[in-house]
Amino acid sequence: MDNLRLWHKFLQLIKPLAGADNFKAYFIKTTVKSYVGDKIILSTPSAFIKETLQQKYKEIIADTFEKLLDKKINVEFIVKEVDKQPETNDEDFFQPAQRQTSYLNPKYSLENFVVGPSNNVAYAAALAVVTSPGASYNPLFIYGGTGVGKTHLMLGIGNAILSKKPHGKIIYCSSEKFMNDYVEAIQTHKMGDLRKKYRSSDVLLVDDIQFFSGREGTQEEFFHTFNELIGKNSQIVLTSDRSPNEIAKIEDRLKSRFAGGLMIDIQQPDFDTRVAILRAKCLEQGVILEEEALQLLASSFDTNIRELEGKLVGILQMLKTQNLPPTTENIGRYLQSPPKNNPKVDSKQVLATVCGYFNLTQKELAGSKRQKELVLPRHITMFILSEHLKMTVERIGQILGGRDHTTVMHGRDKIKKLVATDREVQRMLIEIKNRITN
Ligand code: ADP
Ligand code: MG
Repeated sequence: MDNLRLWHKFLQLIKPLAGADNFKAYFIKTTVKSYVGDKIILSTPSAFIKETLQQKYKEIIADTFEKLLDKKINVEFIVKEVDKQPETNDEDFFQPAQRQTSYLNPKYSLENFVVGPSNNVAYAAALAVVTSPGASYNPLFIYGGTGVGKTHLMLGIGNAILSKKPHGKIIYCSSEKFMNDYVEAIQTHKMGDLRKKYRSSDVLLVDDIQFFSGREGTQEEFFHTFNELIGKNSQIVLTSDRSPNEIAKIEDRLKSRFAGGLMIDIQQPDFDTRVAILRAKCLEQGVILEEEALQLLASSFDTNIRELEGKLVGILQMLKTQNLPPTTENIGRYLQSPPKNNPKVDSKQVLATVCGYFNLTQKELAGSKRQKELVLPRHITMFILSEHLKMTVERIGQILGGRDHTTVMHGRDKIKKLVATDREVQRMLIEIKNRITN
């Protein structure tokens, strides 16, 4: 039994014993730090909670673990070491890869990263980097599709190194932030400051490096930053939604630098890992779901983890507003009849908004001409009608001038892919979505 599963079972037993309020106050944010031999160390979010658990609940906790593990257990408590930082805003659905923060969000740790066949190699590499930063794999280059946990793992590395070396200079930034800093430094003639900032780091984490594509100046600056850091054994970790070779318009010398350390990919997680991740996310929210409910959810949505998490949150919220407990039955019922996001929006509105946005007539949008200026709006319409209005591809084909359903699927999937990587398309979708709902 892994630590998460153990803690999950433990919470199920302790909840009725402690009572709902105490449960929420003392147990929800506590986690199992380690379980070795007959010793379990619990990691608590504050000294106050640690004291309370120790004084009021120690026996009951030990008893409960003993029941679960069928042996004598010693329980110890520690206070979690986290960097107190403001939380990032929840990201918009359409902006999967643009976290702008330059600090380490403590929410993402190696402890709450669920390991499975899709990511265990990347996880092992992350551990090696944490054990000896700058010495094992440098750079560590993590790549993989949207929402597979690249950013989480990267921040996990940063947070783990930070807790070992609280005074270490660890910089996390999106590639966009680096780019903006660079442009600003040029404009304000403060190149020296920029260099001082990035080149003095002990650990530099740059997220979504694919956005460097075509940015020559930024690449040049990054190249020198990179060399200097590697030269003094500072650790570099990079992520990208594809391997360096697949990133267009990146200088060869950078590509070869990226490949100089370890390149490792994260795949979409298998079913068991999805269940385990859902379990972990529930725990973070203080919700306990039955195993069956977790499996039901994991099998109902064939999406990436970020979206899966979004669905989970949505369903839990919906049930809460209806005062229904999150039982397998209620979740199952909900899944069978998912309410529409916004019942007032219909296809006419979508078509009108897209046409307005791109300055087209509906005839052009639904027509057969295949200029670039028409094809993208058409595909975006297919995407919105399918993803947001949940219309069938056949119906969408009819609306758009009697197109075949395979054409609609192709168009929709094209945008699905672009949304993950193309910021121009992301921006368009946000804008169009806003206009539709306003
Ligand atoms: P990426 O950077 O690859 O697009 P993220 O790291 O932002 O993806 O992950 C998306 C969401 O999924 C985050 O909330 C993250 O915590 C969660 N997630 C992804 N993989 C895992 C995992 N192995 N264990 C726990 N949570 C995960
Ligand atoms: Mg990311």
